Amino acid sequence: AILCSTQSTATRRRIILFPLPFQGHINPMLQLANILHTQGFEITIIHTQFNSPNHSNYPHFTFKPISDSFFDIESQLKTKTDAGYILQYLNGICEDPFRDCLAGLLAEYDEGSISCLITDAGLYFTQAVVDSVKLPRMVLRTSSLACVLSYGALPFSSENGYFNLTKEDSNYEASVPEFPLMKAKDVAKMTTNPEAMGSFVTKMLNQMKASSGLIWNTFKELEEDALETICQDFPVPSFTLGPFHKYFPASSSSLIEQDQNVLAWLDTKAPKSVIYISFGSVALITESEFQEVAHALMNTGLPFLWVVRPGIVPGSEWLEPLPEEFLERVGDKGRIVKWAPQQDVLAHPATGCFWTHCGWNSTLESICEGVPMVCSPCFVDQPVNARYVSDVWKIGVFLEDGLDRVGIEMAIKRVMMDKEGEEMRERINSLKEKVNVSLEEGGSSHQSVKALVNYISSF
Ligand code: UDP
Repeated sequence: AILCSTQSTATRRRIILFPLPFQGHINPMLQLANILHTQGFEITIIHTQFNSPNHSNYPHFTFKPISDSFFDIESQLKTKTDAGYILQYLNGICEDPFRDCLAGLLAEYDEGSISCLITDAGLYFTQAVVDSVKLPRMVLRTSSLACVLSYGALPFSSENGYFNLTKEDSNYEASVPEFPLMKAKDVAKMTTNPEAMGSFVTKMLNQMKASSGLIWNTFKELEEDALETICQDFPVPSFTLGPFHKYFPASSSSLIEQDQNVLAWLDTKAPKSVIYISFGSVALITESEFQEVAHALMNTGLPFLWVVRPGIVPGSEWLEPLPEEFLERVGDKGRIVKWAPQQDVLAHPATGCFWTHCGWNSTLESICEGVPMVCSPCFVDQPVNARYVSDVWKIGVFLEDGLDRVGIEMAIKRVMMDKEGEEMRERINSLKEKVNVSLEEGGSSHQSVKALVNYISSF
């Protein structure tokens, strides 16, 4: 996409951006910052010291770290996945340092030279802070539109029973009336602490409504119906200008070094023959699930590239839980790395299937490269994304009953070898075409960038 600046250098105004300090949130926020920079805005990034972006990759931005005490969070993240609790804690500890930092910036720059603040939707506390200094706040929501609709519709409470369901319960497989696309068992996966999740979601949605506008990393043609509902439910303008990584790749905001050697290895493999496996930056799996993955990969006999993030199996450093002689047995057929250049891997002709946790960035990246998916969502928005991939867009297979070697092997074969998989590939390639059209001059995302720039310039 070609983006031309609409502002002369004499009138460049500044935008302050504040991401949530997690990989899947930092990537789209820094991509958005780059998009706005090309449109003629000066950029300041406020960030926590925990998971700090690498300043040297962004010499054209100004960075303002705020102090935080993340020792506690880091240790909790290794064993717990209670997003509702962690995100509320984060909102609490960031409030004072953020207020001081913002006051410093407002004093540093001439009045009127700062257009607005853009924060992650999860940083809901910032709305009250900007209200007190009369600065507009725009919100970046890094999930799908559908995720926000599901969050608004579902009752996050342990009383309704969804969150402590087991396979033996009769309604485990039933669709839920509040959001019929999802089954009760999908909802059960979203959180282990529905009260904390519900309290977080309510605050986030309320402060999105109180903001000056919403920016989404999605594109209109992908989520047309959801966009209509969002526009009715949220009384502020919505801008869908994604997928952001098509303007700027995510590699420069990667918090872990990406193993580039995998690309030469992929060069040695036949077209569409390799399974790429990654569960993103926060999902955890148990030791027995990890072993089921390993057995399934051996049993398929297909080449694979498996990202095993250190710490993904709580209690293990890295590859200790692998079955005996796994590495000898797979030989050059398989490759395990700590972190991959995911966008390049998905774009490589040898990659035939993406077995993913359905984080929103991963889902979009797969769509943009036309790679059909096997879905193993862990929590939060991932189950709803998986439902869209399998049931709405029909571009992947949902491993809805967890990780067992037989089920995994069948799902992979459906995508890689069956006629059904070919049809998924056709459908995802047609979405890939739609992405490209949306980014061209006159396309929906391209127009949204212009509309957003005009809107921000009007502040
Ligand atoms: N990613 C990467 N290398 C890997 C795995 C993931 O660079 O080995 C990137 C991926 O391209 C995506 C981000 O990390 O941009 C993960 O975001 P997502 O929303 O998919 O999942 P999360 O990590 O937030 O669960």
